Amino acid sequence: MANKEKSFKHAPLRVVIVGHVDHGKSTLIGRLLYDTDSLPDGKVEELEQICKNRNVEMEWSFLLDSFQAERDQAVTIDSTQIWFSTELRDYVIIDAPGHREFLKNMISGASAADAAILVVDAEEGVKEQTRRHAYLLHLLGLRQVAVVINKMDRVGHDIERYQAVADETAKYLQGFGMTATTIIPISARHGDMIANRSDKMGWFDGKTLIEALDTFSVSAAPVARPLRFPIQDVYRFEEKRILAGRIETGILRKGDTLLFSPTNETAVVTSIESWPDNGQEVIEAHAGESIGITLDSPIFVERGHVASKQDKAPMLSNVFRANIFWLSKKPLKVGNTYKVRFATVEAMVTVQSIERVINTDDLAHKGDHSEVQRNAVAEVTLRARTLLPVDPYIDNFKMGRMALYEDYDIAGGGIISMEGYPDQRRAEEPKSDNIYKVSYMVDPEVRAQKNGHYGSIVWLTGLSGAGKSTL
Ligand code: GDP
Repeated sequence: MANKEKSFKHAPLRVVIVGHVDHGKSTLIGRLLYDTDSLPDGKVEELEQICKNRNVEMEWSFLLDSFQAERDQAVTIDSTQIWFSTELRDYVIIDAPGHREFLKNMISGASAADAAILVVDAEEGVKEQTRRHAYLLHLLGLRQVAVVINKMDRVGHDIERYQAVADETAKYLQGFGMTATTIIPISARHGDMIANRSDKMGWFDGKTLIEALDTFSVSAAPVARPLRFPIQDVYRFEEKRILAGRIETGILRKGDTLLFSPTNETAVVTSIESWPDNGQEVIEAHAGESIGITLDSPIFVERGHVASKQDKAPMLSNVFRANIFWLSKKPLKVGNTYKVRFATVEAMVTVQSIERVINTDDLAHKGDHSEVQRNAVAEVTLRARTLLPVDPYIDNFKMGRMALYEDYDIAGGGIISMEGYPDQRRAEEPKSDNIYKVSYMVDPEVRAQKNGHYGSIVWLTGLSGAGKSTL
């Protein structure tokens, strides 16, 4: 690891730090480590020396450069995670700002954070990346957000300037229904209101940043949700066929009857294999665990299939809606084909329509729906060639996150919505079991006489998403 050697007693809180370039993210990280005494011995002296050599004031952001240099020399194993500890618990800062893959990792879910710190410069106020990052946090469902108004020393620790920038930020967030958990005036360079209070800002009686972070909670593994076990690999081991993967949500037990999607086949779990094998039989495994299972029948299963319980299965659909954040230089266009990936599910999808394009700068809805430019947010409808097991994000935040790939590069991503789209699992079944003949006291003849015409059924057919409901 980049800083002190550490083994975590409890799951650390995972924090992501976002904000406009030069607003002080790296400086804040340096200061967080220093103020919580999480720096390796000699690091501060090394930093002071560097600053002296370059004839500049103490520059905490150099700390990240120094970690980066260690990484480049492969001194450290972990490339992007920096930790610090308060008296209460441990924290991991994921994806150091400026890291090339930072937005991509956030979007792909490779670095799911529990909480975020949004840094805003007190002099500059809300800027383009402040808006964009804030919107992204909201889109990805992050609800624990501390906004810090940084560089208060540059505005003379002025309460009115603080209030103006705090209001500007809060107003922008409200524009899309987001509320900051807390807003704090700080000076990252001087360590004001990070771990220590500041006599220069005696007018502020709220929590310090550390106190605010300590009130946030680590996201619990979603065991209480319906079971989702996406298959990662199927392999043979001493006569056994083992289906391996990580349980995303819920609990899986030996003896459970599992329904596999999209094949719609069922089988019973005959064993749970876990590594390392300690000789004890495993009868239950929980969300977050990587396991292998064996089944009582040789049904066809492959990577990308999703196992669930029979009564609470994912929806099956070849069309779904997505709220996406677009990253690629090449705009997303109607008719374009991309690879979609969620959990272990992978499929080619075509953009059927673009419903809305939102400019994160002013939250305006753009009239032109033919394409989505880089850094824009949009609501799009995607169609696959086959049925996919999909869970909307509101039901399952693990399965409902998806990313779009252009060749091998992540081009955009966001969350899945199934609003307005039916589960197509039934259509897969041979006959309908919900149409019955019922007797009424008013028979069809009498009803026709009364209405002056016979009754009839108008059946609108067509692929889902074709516009039947609208018609
Ligand atoms: P980043 O791009 O968001 O990571 O920004 P940096 O942390 O690199 O900071 C950009 C510049 O702002 C650096 O020169 C910092 O020293 C300076 N800076 C950051 N925080 C403060 C602060 O609280 N007060 C003052 N005066 N300067 C700061």
